[in-house]
Amino acid sequence: MFSKNEVTVGNIKIGGDHHIVIQSMTNTDTIDVQKTVSQIIELKQAGAEIVRVSVRKKQDLEPFGEIVKRVDVPIVADIHFDYRLAVQSIKNGASKVRINPGNIGSEEKIREIVKVAKDYKIPIRVGANSGSIAKEYQNLPIYKALAESALKEVRLLEKEGFFDIVVSVKSTNAKENFLANQYISQRIPYPLHIGVTEAGVYEDAIILSSAGLGSLLLNDIGDTIRVSVSGNPVKEVQIAKDLLISLGLKEGIKIIACPTCARSEINVESWAYQVKNWIKERNIVKNLSIAVMGCVVNGPGEARHSDIAIVGTKNTSAAIFLKGKLYGTYKKEEIKEVLSELINDLN
Ligand code: SF4
Repeated sequence: MFSKNEVTVGNIKIGGDHHIVIQSMTNTDTIDVQKTVSQIIELKQAGAEIVRVSVRKKQDLEPFGEIVKRVDVPIVADIHFDYRLAVQSIKNGASKVRINPGNIGSEEKIREIVKVAKDYKIPIRVGANSGSIAKEYQNLPIYKALAESALKEVRLLEKEGFFDIVVSVKSTNAKENFLANQYISQRIPYPLHIGVTEAGVYEDAIILSSAGLGSLLLNDIGDTIRVSVSGNPVKEVQIAKDLLISLGLKEGIKIIACPTCARSEINVESWAYQVKNWIKERNIVKNLSIAVMGCVVNGPGEARHSDIAIVGTKNTSAAIFLKGKLYGTYKKEEIKEVLSELINDLN
């Protein structure tokens, strides 16, 4: 089970028994309202349910308020150093604020943020990453230092009677990331925002995020995820979505394809891509698995656990299996139509 507490971010719930929420962050200049709004819309269309926007200075506050009004996605204000930015962002419509009490300063300033967050019923995310380990924990193993630094921030909020909290601990090292989140999940009831920080460019981020987030999610740790990718944040959302679908934590079509060998009767890679692209174009959202297998030797057996299996036979035709039973044999050009009918009929 995931953590028991839940928080409400706009119209989205995080924690409790709720689904794993996908979030991302804009990388446009907050002052450029139009660009930022466009990016948020793109992120939403890609599947983001919550989007974070940096509020770096006083001049960002007004555009931030304008951005919030122009989108229908809950927006999180990302604040560092200045408590007044957190207070005003909440007043300007933030659905959640992410702060780092360690760099906000005095307890009095944190108290001010808490007071407004309570009035507006806004959750606060706190946490730690490799760059924000508290001095007193620097001799601990890194995962423990990370987790204890985050717990210290949690205690600062709890001391003010504030419990509407989301916590994150992030590392660029998948194992440290796992251990830190595991440690923290055993000690607090608050929803966990998980991610592997600074995961790199697209290909590297896919691997690191799959290892780092997959290991946590398979252990029921994590309530909301943010994949980190250098570049266009839409890619973060796509990776997050694919990861959740592959783990069975989100509705979607899973494409299974054999690695091919000398027995392969069809170009599995090309067929698998065609099926994948065709499903993407039609934006089909169903819980289905479709297997593309190269031959009848192992194909039907390996595909028995799929809803639909396309298995290569001689002369560029393929047999289609439905729930493990032979449905028929078709020419390549007929496959799309048959597949379409079957997908429509299933579920
Ligand atoms: S399904 Fe057939 S072609 Fe694909 S890996 Fe297995 S034996 Fe080889």
